[in-house]
Amino acid sequence: MKSIVPDISQMPLPIDQWTQPFWDAAARHELVIPRCAACKAWHWPPAPFCPKCRSQEQEWLPAGPARLYSFSIVHRPGPTPEEPSQLIVPGLVEFPEAGGMRFVAAIVESEVDDITIGAALSVSWTPKDETNVPVFSLA
Ligand SMILES: [Zn+2]
Repeated sequence: MKSIVPDISQMPLPIDQWTQPFWDAAARHELVIPRCAACKAWHWPPAPFCPKCRSQEQEWLPAGPARLYSFSIVHRPGPTPEEPSQLIVPGLVEFPEAGGMRFVAAIVESEVDDITIGAALSVSWTPKDETNVPVFSLA
């Protein structure tokens, strides 16, 4: 049974001046992570200062390949009692080439029995407001 794409229509996006570059890139189907321009430390979530050296200079670079660090399986009841439950898989997605930064995203349209920690993931996009929300599936 495959995981579904969760309905995010009612979910507000966390857009502010610090996350705006992420969402601008997502609108172009580009996945980026901030890195300090001074000390080259990656950081997540986006913040006004580098957590290591306090510099305010940052660059947004491609996140690179994604892999699954951890995940959970949520069983949501089907639309009617006769229909099977739907499977939602929130995952902690890791970017080894972006300093090992991680964020939570949905693992979608993947055979749930095949989902394993360390699995290679590919990104796809769910349109939302003026941008897109990244979701991932087994590569
Ligand atoms: Zn720094």
